[in-house]
Amino acid sequence: MSKIAIMGAMPQEIEPILKKLGNYKTTKYADNEYYEATYKGVEVVVAYSKIGKVFSTLTATIMIEHFNCDKLLFSGVAGAINPNLKIGDLIVASKLSQHDLDITAFGHPMGFVPGGSVFVEADKDLIAISKKVAHELGKTVIEGTIATGDQFIHDEKVKNNIVKHFNADALEMEGCSVGVVCDALNIPFFILRSISDTADTDASFSFDKFMQSSAIISAQFIMKMVDHIVDAK
Ligand code: SAH
Repeated sequence: MSKIAIMGAMPQEIEPILKKLGNYKTTKYADNEYYEATYKGVEVVVAYSKIGKVFSTLTATIMIEHFNCDKLLFSGVAGAINPNLKIGDLIVASKLSQHDLDITAFGHPMGFVPGGSVFVEADKDLIAISKKVAHELGKTVIEGTIATGDQFIHDEKVKNNIVKHFNADALEMEGCSVGVVCDALNIPFFILRSISDTADTDASFSFDKFMQSSAIISAQFIMKMVDHIVDAK
């Protein structure tokens, strides 16, 4: 029987999901809270990790190793790079990279360390489900590359540098670290983000204005995906 992990980074990213679940049990573990529920007969575990690669690595690992989740869906917001992505639009990651992982001094490409790879790929079956959901909702969802790093990007130059190395469509602070954990543990994963800003000089203002509404758009889409996964059981 499947047990689905649903993650966000910030409280606002999981609040709409908890609301939809209604009843849940709260467990404190490793300095965080995990919310367990049964949704249409399927067990789900929900948590927000706190911001950044380290906290999201910790939470993803715990959801898999401690709570025994066998699939992971991430819902949240991101800064857009691809000009086709406007505020509130959705991007599904086909692959993700760490834009701040840099040992280029030794001749390696950006985002690469020995034993790792520049990109980690999200699960194709979950991406296929997202296409069905998008079709059902009549929504355009862009599939593309997401770059993850431990900075809130609000600068065209930094943004352009990330494009140069990774040709990324959007950037955020947790997706790739979650992906690396799931990849290593053979857990299918899916990263969805709704745009809150365009990672330029106005990014923090745009983020404050749109984060909540974009987080809701992403969370609603994720729950439609959970419906599909549950119905396929
Ligand atoms: N306002 C928050 C900080 C938000 S950090 C506070 O003060 O606590 C930005 C969060 O949204 C991260 O979780 C990241 O994944 C995502 N994000 C959205 N836009 C981003 C951008 N331009 N650069 C990096 N991360 C971004």
